[in-house]
Amino acid sequence: MKNSKGYFGEFGGAYVPDQLKTVLNEVEENFYKYIEDKEFLNELNYYYKQYIGRENPLYFSESLTRKIGGSKIYLKREDLNHTGAHKINNAIGQVLLAKRMDKKRIVAETGAGQHGVATATVCALFNMDCVIYMGQVDVKRQEINVFKMELLGAKVIPVSSGTATLKDAVDAALEDFVVNSANTFYLLGSAVGPHPYPTMVREFQSVIGKEARKQILEVEGKLPNYVIACVGGGSNAIGLFSAFENDKNVNIIGVEPAGKGLNTKLHAASLCKGTPGIIHGFKCYTLQDENGTPLPTYSIAPGLDYPGVGPEHSHYKHIGRATYESITDDAALEAFMLLSKTEGIIAALESSHAIAYAIKLAKTLSKNDIIIVNLSGRGDKDIYQIKEILSLNKTLM
Ligand SMILES: *Cc1c(COP(=O)(O)O)cnc(C)c1O
Repeated sequence: MKNSKGYFGEFGGAYVPDQLKTVLNEVEENFYKYIEDKEFLNELNYYYKQYIGRENPLYFSESLTRKIGGSKIYLKREDLNHTGAHKINNAIGQVLLAKRMDKKRIVAETGAGQHGVATATVCALFNMDCVIYMGQVDVKRQEINVFKMELLGAKVIPVSSGTATLKDAVDAALEDFVVNSANTFYLLGSAVGPHPYPTMVREFQSVIGKEARKQILEVEGKLPNYVIACVGGGSNAIGLFSAFENDKNVNIIGVEPAGKGLNTKLHAASLCKGTPGIIHGFKCYTLQDENGTPLPTYSIAPGLDYPGVGPEHSHYKHIGRATYESITDDAALEAFMLLSKTEGIIAALESSHAIAYAIKLAKTLSKNDIIIVNLSGRGDKDIYQIKEILSLNKTLM
């Protein structure tokens, strides 16, 4: 769904001050130029292969399939990428673009720290100065990721304004970007934000879906009945979904975090429970109060904890091209345990939401049906948190 003005139906756009618009226009112009440039694409593919380790497998999850006793479940193994998740696909793409634009300095925001680590990684690789803005509260919560970023040579700046979390980190990064735009590039981590970011991030993540579509045709000789991914900002999901957008018989399902339940305030299900509004300079479904102020959100999975969602997902929902479901903390944790024990794969808590939904769905389908689930990342980062939860709740073991 390309749209040069950056709209997906009524969603997206760039609701930002003029100064920022000027800077975004420069990014947009260069993005559209290089995304068609053969040399740029060759370089991108080189790093996808040699640095990230693509293509990664589309793994037939045979033990899980047998255990569930419904449709076949395939896992797209983004967890096997260098740094252990899909975020590096986008970080590599944007840093290569920054290099072409002669920028020597990268700024980024991070909440849970995963995007900060991916950004610090590519900055180390390309010898870029790297500044990561992170809410003071998150700096404390995500000590290990802060340490990783520093090991990689990045400077982590704690932000203490507002609620001292992701939203405030975004504001600080944008301000830096505007002030220092002559030598600085803003490397955004999900398919959100003002145009051109949602389109750009989708393009750099679309490798997930292109590979998966080719791989399933190779092994099964037909397309899947369902493609499923978890949705935080929506980058791993749109990366998978975009390749199947025009395959009308492929059902697309995004899975949002229901936290403690959609009937509580403790969730982050923007598409399931939100209303259209403007957040961080773009229009999407968002969890907001009657004055349009973003509501606090919650999920067991730090990467899904965001009150907005990508504009393209908002449009998919609006036109009915995709459906958006939700999975609670408890169900995600159960899927996390089941995948660990049946397949020997410790998945990220974010990805476990998609797996949980796939398991539920697979039970209702026939043996000839096929589901592809995006395993967006590995769970190493989550094991301390899970150990603590399990020690309080022995029944899950
Ligand atoms: C950050 C993250 C997500 C959520 O981000 P999206 O932009 O929605 O993909 C999902 N899975 C993992 C492993 C992550 O690190």
